[in-house]
Amino acid sequence: MKLVRIKKALFFLLGSINCLSISAQPLNIVEQMRAKDDSAMFKALFDLALTDGHAYKRLGELCKGVGSRLSGSDNAERGIIWAVSMLKSYQFDTVFTQPVMVPRWERGEIESVNLYSKVLTNHLKSGKLGDDYNCEAFVEANPKPQKFYPLNACALGGSVGGKVVGSVVTVNSNRELDSLGKAGKLRGKIVLLNRAFDQTLLNTFQAYGGCVSQRVNGAVPCSKYGALAVLVRSMSNRCDLHPHTGVTHYDDSVTKIPMVAVATAVADLLEDICLIDPYHWVEIELNCRTLPDRLSANVIASSMGSKYPEKIIDFGGHFDSWDEGEGAHDDGAGCMHAFEALRLLKAMGYTPRHTLRCVFWINEENGLRGGTEYARLAAERGENHIAALESDRGGFVPRGFGVDSAILPGVQKYQKLLDAYGIGTIEKGGGGADIGPLKKVNPNTAFVSIIPDSQRYFDVHHAETDVFENVNKRELHLGAAAVAAMIYILDQQLD
Ligand SMILES: [Zn+2]
Repeated sequence: MKLVRIKKALFFLLGSINCLSISAQPLNIVEQMRAKDDSAMFKALFDLALTDGHAYKRLGELCKGVGSRLSGSDNAERGIIWAVSMLKSYQFDTVFTQPVMVPRWERGEIESVNLYSKVLTNHLKSGKLGDDYNCEAFVEANPKPQKFYPLNACALGGSVGGKVVGSVVTVNSNRELDSLGKAGKLRGKIVLLNRAFDQTLLNTFQAYGGCVSQRVNGAVPCSKYGALAVLVRSMSNRCDLHPHTGVTHYDDSVTKIPMVAVATAVADLLEDICLIDPYHWVEIELNCRTLPDRLSANVIASSMGSKYPEKIIDFGGHFDSWDEGEGAHDDGAGCMHAFEALRLLKAMGYTPRHTLRCVFWINEENGLRGGTEYARLAAERGENHIAALESDRGGFVPRGFGVDSAILPGVQKYQKLLDAYGIGTIEKGGGGADIGPLKKVNPNTAFVSIIPDSQRYFDVHHAETDVFENVNKRELHLGAAAVAAMIYILDQQLD
């Protein structure tokens, strides 16, 4: 017993000394740890993130104090003011903004989608539901027969407004779209683009990739075939009543028709209604609109390189979000990963060899103007960006990294050390929407991306459920520590 107590006391004492020394003599501690081996450096980074992380607290301020940050909105500008003052409070070497003109789309006050269906009403009256409908969530939320049924729906970003009434035609593939369109069966109809996620894919981003084109590009063929409006099945693995917005594009060659996301349970309901009630109709009313562009900004904080100050390592996320929810996972978490990585390395007393830049890009969701302007300025100034990491897959537990093949062997040397923190894969890959334009002006920039667990990301992506409450503190801090570890690796490995 005695021995155990002494051991505990010693452990506590050593722990306290360790904490004190990190703050009192940071340089010495970092030198000692690095002299030993990099595992001590990683351990200290993760320990600090998990015991005194700042990412979660700052994300809370952003989500609850500012909220959603759609490009061109007053909220986005309030967010940028918050970000600059937050970063300045940490006394990084520099904190600055880059002006960027961004598009401005507003949802408007009117957004209603209603279903009229006598068959549904009769079924609800008779209580005969189970056999006819796949969409339990919708029927549970609407147990009583009504004159009309308000559907859980929201305009897609960039949609035109308008008022449309028509019956729905369900389409589950591009081939079906073309065959129905060519047969004239979409003319005067509201088209439901209903391709669902492939649930067998473990990587949910692959499932998203298999469906998202119907949201982004669906307006053009549907309009060409004479449709009045388009309902798009939400991009989600879940069956629920939350519509997920996202960008949609038109083409000047066709009439711009309203584009609306419907919740997955609503899409299932409508598919059933199409089969059992040929006389149903849906009414859509939206007053969303596009306004003139507005001045906004990228926000940047950096630590100066000691050996190669002219060589830059970028890491960041996009600061804008959709107007539904709070942009907590998408991409407040990515921005906080980057800020916290810069802070952790500074708090550890680490002196970077290259200049480290944490970047909050603006307007990834509906224009990519921030990333484009960042690359344009880099080219204009002849900057040398040797590596760029983007975090835009949520604040979930980190599982791995995608890394540019040119630097993959050097980074993979650290695989074993990162395994200890659940980061099991370092694979060929890397990249991100905001860093993409850098490659055009700087072909040698090595891209990296963090890969968190993807199972829950599309539950909340672009939906009202992407709020701070759905972010787990430890998972967010593990992600930030993982980004810090990767930035350390890049700083050590690259010349
Ligand atoms: Zn995003």
